[in-house]
Amino acid sequence: PATLGMLGGGQLGRFFVLAAHELGYKVWVLDPDTNSPAGKAADRHLCAAYEDFAALDQLAQNCAAITTEFENVPADTLDYLAKFLPVRPSADAVGICQNRVAEKMFLRNNDIPHAAFIAVNKADDLRNAPDELFPGILKVARFGYDGKGQARVTSREEALHALQGFHNEPCVLEQMLTLDYEISVVLARDEHGNTKSFAPSENAHAKGILDVSISPSRFTAETAQQLAERIAEQLGYIGTLAVEFFVSRGELYVNEMAPRPHNSGHYTVDACATSQYEQQVRALTGLPLGDARAHSAAVMVNLLGDIWYDPTQPGPDSHGHYREPDWGKLLTYPNLKLHLYGKHHARPGRKMGHFTVIDADPAKAHEVAMAARAAIGISDE
Ligand code: ATP
Ligand code: MG
Ligand code: MG
Repeated sequence: PATLGMLGGGQLGRFFVLAAHELGYKVWVLDPDTNSPAGKAADRHLCAAYEDFAALDQLAQNCAAITTEFENVPADTLDYLAKFLPVRPSADAVGICQNRVAEKMFLRNNDIPHAAFIAVNKADDLRNAPDELFPGILKVARFGYDGKGQARVTSREEALHALQGFHNEPCVLEQMLTLDYEISVVLARDEHGNTKSFAPSENAHAKGILDVSISPSRFTAETAQQLAERIAEQLGYIGTLAVEFFVSRGELYVNEMAPRPHNSGHYTVDACATSQYEQQVRALTGLPLGDARAHSAAVMVNLLGDIWYDPTQPGPDSHGHYREPDWGKLLTYPNLKLHLYGKHHARPGRKMGHFTVIDADPAKAHEVAMAARAAIGISDE
């Protein structure tokens, strides 16, 4: 059987490995972490840096095609691999998604609605910024995630101060929008340009991290899907792509793109004929894309490391271990699917697993998910 290469070893990569195995493929994973979830599920785990050319040569010699689950893979790594075998998505597409300046310029140049912004390379850019950008958010151009590398600023002075805090790294300053809510569209696009969009999910965050994701969302699916498909086309994208949107005063704005499956698309594993991960496998290998329709409404709840702690006894026990939550409390709900990633260490804020509740009735799915969430001690703040 053909072997596929995956750059990155997190849970998104792990679900890709599982989907690839179901279609009879082998997977080799490159990730520097010995305990990476995808590395453990893979047929081979190359435990090396993304810039390790010996490891890249091994991938090139043994794999039929390469994909990624992690947007910060160096563009040079993707370019190097692309000399030998198909790399999907391309280094160009990933390069745009991994740099907020390039990403926002891409949106501007393609007339895709987005929050007003400027690129910030030096303090003077902030001094000259239009007034309409305050209050705003200053975001580092690279390596931010889960709301890290961002500062909410109400004035120019605060923005200048925040830029110093980011060591004058390149940033974008964007206008703060009044959010009705947030949604995302995950889609897959194949080498012939066919696209299949999943139903949008509506995403609620807690402390900057995705907490609960509900599909379908309140927003009209077609409008969001059309914008996401335009983005995929303009990027010449092949693979699974996620587009995050703000809904502000009833209007859609693109927030950011992720050149990979997305946390908010976990629901597709349990509620759709074809999951976002299976689509990634299909797009990578040149198979036709699957039906992306949902057979149920779904509510996904992230399980963060916080609930591995005993609230009566903060911190690890004398062996450095954390209490495993009581999964029995979840597994009694008939329409609930639990997914645990097999991570070795719990940390507050670390994504350890998730569950999805499916139901024909969206309200019922939500009710059960909230009850299940409370049953294992996830509080609302
Ligand atoms: P992710 O984990 O999704 O990659 P991130 O660190 O890349 O997150 P963003 O998605 O840019 O960060 O922003 C995080 C959150 O901050 C958004 O989901 C939204 O709630 C809020 N936010 C970001 N930009 C704006 C804005 N311009 N106006 C209002 N809220 C915003
Ligand atoms: Mg992001
Ligand atoms: Mg985001």
